[in-house]
Amino acid sequence: MKYLSTRGGEPVSAATAILRGICPRGGLYVPETFPQLNVQDLLPLAGDYPALAAHIMSPYFPEVSETRLRELTGLAYASFDTPDVVPLVSLGANETVMELWHGPTMAFKDVALQMLPYLMRESMRLNNEEKQIYILVATSGDTGKAALEGFADVKGTRILVYYPAGGVSEAQRLQMVTQEGGNVDVCGVVGNFDDAQTGVKRIFTNPEIADELERRGYRLSSANSINFGRLLPQIVYYFASYLRLAAEGKINCGEEINFCVPTGNFGNILAGYYAKRMGLPVAKFICASNRNNVLTDFMQTGGYNANRPFYKSMSCSIDILISSNLERLLFELNGRDTAATEAMMRGLKENGSYAITDDMLAQLRGLYAADWCDETDTHNTIRDTFMGHRYLLDPHTAVAQTVYARYAAGTGDATRTVVLSTANPYKFSTGVLRAFEDGGEDDFANAARLHEVTNVPVPPQLLALRGKPERHTDVVQINELERRTLAPL
Ligand SMILES: *Cc1c(COP(=O)(O)O)cnc(C)c1O
Repeated sequence: MKYLSTRGGEPVSAATAILRGICPRGGLYVPETFPQLNVQDLLPLAGDYPALAAHIMSPYFPEVSETRLRELTGLAYASFDTPDVVPLVSLGANETVMELWHGPTMAFKDVALQMLPYLMRESMRLNNEEKQIYILVATSGDTGKAALEGFADVKGTRILVYYPAGGVSEAQRLQMVTQEGGNVDVCGVVGNFDDAQTGVKRIFTNPEIADELERRGYRLSSANSINFGRLLPQIVYYFASYLRLAAEGKINCGEEINFCVPTGNFGNILAGYYAKRMGLPVAKFICASNRNNVLTDFMQTGGYNANRPFYKSMSCSIDILISSNLERLLFELNGRDTAATEAMMRGLKENGSYAITDDMLAQLRGLYAADWCDETDTHNTIRDTFMGHRYLLDPHTAVAQTVYARYAAGTGDATRTVVLSTANPYKFSTGVLRAFEDGGEDDFANAARLHEVTNVPVPPQLLALRGKPERHTDVVQINELERRTLAPL
């Protein structure tokens, strides 16, 4: 299995794609083919997530044996608080919620970022990498902590996380700035996630910085979903939820289902598309956004236009206008035409916009439904879902739930739908509490009050943050990222 860049260039091995994170010329690595799997054959693995994960990832990384991968997935997913790893909850007749946040940092990013360090270590071994891997991360709130947790004190690595100062929840901020470990660094950025991500991408494609870091014994890599090693473990839970529904008799094996995904950088929902390309029976992906609804407009019109106001919302991890992984989907929809993909990405960089062809739009509409909702809708859904089902949603999952309910009502589509729940509600206590009553500004007090109101247990990871020293207090301007990245640890 080789990896191609969406903007052209030599194919590379899985190890090289994972170690580089992004193609030096600026494209994203994609697998040359999609291995084919049959859900019927996978049924025996329905109850063994680590074994299923190793089996699904194995053809993408043939240089590592499935046996070895099985050892690694066993280690990676032992840190989750349930052997199911991604438990399912029924909500209504046709709807299932998949909880992706049972890992150490309480967001779905753990599913990939507990695994990525192992994939990276295997890649370093295969490539005889002697340099230290320098992981540079831009986060909208959850990737940062999940990457820190995954890479803290991992031999041969160093990590620096940039987060939008003032653009993440208080729990997200505290999780990052209190991070311990000898190889970790965290820095706020004056700007939003798009600014941070664009700055980090600028560094990745700047040969002078690469040379300078190389002289100092480092090789840059990424733990963002631009790295294929991030997407790969995310393909697994689409299969896992399907197989469990089939094993429980909720669907017939082979029957198509829908997935509804709260979407920002398009990594999660793209992993679902890859699962479909591998043979998972999927009818529709429902792409859910908050007020930053650039993807809704794109899917409805075929025009991508990031020239619009950026809104801060309580579903802050999807406050994104430049959705990086869409590039990988465009590459598939245009018949893997690297020049056409590059031209669209140039349009995005230079004008903030591009348009796809009618043929691509027709394919897109066949695959996806898309909608968005505002803050009032999000609050109403959190409250109504709790009142109706005694089930507490985080703001991102509430965005997906709102969009799904509207989709189902509007289309009459009764297909079984899995709504991906991407974070524990207590990562956003202040926003979630407001669905029930007006709280104050103290996030810990709001978490305690949310517990009184809902009786949903407060996760111990959140309580442990209280009073922990804030070790990483730096905040820099966007034009200082190069200098900050070159600064010694
Ligand atoms: C990252 C994140 C998302 C968006 O995922 P993408 O892969 O960027 O589309 C949604 N919800 C939460 C809680 C997240 O942390």
